[in-house]
Amino acid sequence: AHSGNVGVFVRIRPTAHFAQGLVECLPDGQTVNIYHRRDSKKTQDSIKGRPSSWSFRLEGVLQDVSQEEVYDRVCHPLVQGAFDGYNGTVMCFGQTGAGKTYTMTGSTKSYKQRGFIPRALQQVFQEIERRTDFSFSVQLSFMEIYNETLLDLLSPVSPLQDSTPPSARGLVVMEEPGRGVVIKGLSLHPVFSEEDALDLMFEADMNRVTGSHALNRNSSRSHCIFSLHIESRSRTLSEAKYVTSKLSLVDLAGSERLGKTGSEGQMLKESTYINKSLSFLEQTILALADRRREHVPFRHTKLTHALKNSLGGNCNTVLVANVYGEAEHLDETLCTMHFARRMKNVKIQPAVNEHMDP
Ligand code: ADP
Repeated sequence: AHSGNVGVFVRIRPTAHFAQGLVECLPDGQTVNIYHRRDSKKTQDSIKGRPSSWSFRLEGVLQDVSQEEVYDRVCHPLVQGAFDGYNGTVMCFGQTGAGKTYTMTGSTKSYKQRGFIPRALQQVFQEIERRTDFSFSVQLSFMEIYNETLLDLLSPVSPLQDSTPPSARGLVVMEEPGRGVVIKGLSLHPVFSEEDALDLMFEADMNRVTGSHALNRNSSRSHCIFSLHIESRSRTLSEAKYVTSKLSLVDLAGSERLGKTGSEGQMLKESTYINKSLSFLEQTILALADRRREHVPFRHTKLTHALKNSLGGNCNTVLVANVYGEAEHLDETLCTMHFARRMKNVKIQPAVNEHMDP
């Protein structure tokens, strides 16, 4: 659906204090202008000067848009593509509180507020019912990356009961010829209905929350990767041909630059890891966008390595940049928008994943 470049959307969190005059969404639905004195704290002079301005043109600016509409514009085409054998990835990026989890998982407050994951599951099983001339197998996995450690959110061992340090539980990012990146040790769960899959989604969510409480950490400090592996075979053709695809929904850790709040101890360690993984994500993206760059530094962090096949190349990739529209968050909003702009330059070349039985 997005052949050419990564599709980038910005979603502005509804707020009582929208920075009127500083954040400007143009009627074309694709452009955001930001007026801001970025260095105002450093140089006294610039305070007197006019604010600098930046203009960002994206695939879509989502302001006051319902969960359903955001899903339909951003995620629906990728799920559809997955049924034709195309890999798909949706990532949410932005500072803590800007709406990444709201977009990805949604709110449990009402059915209308559910996010991409439950909606994608519904679409997948509706599509399976519709395509009666195919047989499908769907498998699901849910992984968290915290401080460069991979955690299986659906491992049979509860993180509370398990005394083995996560690093010893053995999830490893591996590259297999012909298959690309595989997370060795990550549990894959066959699912046969939307209900099955939703149960697992809730279980993963519980494990994430209890795990983070047990280890006394904040869940906004980790990356979460939800994946669906879909395999389809024609019932009518007796060929040994089948088609596979992988759909990844990625809720990234809060991107806010730390240091302002004088963090220490565990907080500082978390921030260091997040800053490192997100800045390598950014470098990876820059390298992907630059055709002359031979070496893309995928392997520098667990996040970029795990996402190697999902960031560009053979994948329909979409980024949602979640931002606040409030004046007090303008610095971070600007950082998020710059990231979004870089992501726009990454090329994608999705191709159908066709296989033959041996
Ligand atoms: P993040 O995952 O980026 O840290 P959250 O998704 O947890 O942020 O959002 C923070 C809070 O704001 C949550 O209570 C969420 O329900 C609310 N929120 C975020 N975006 C929206 C939105 N578009 N509409 C309504 N509520 C939202």
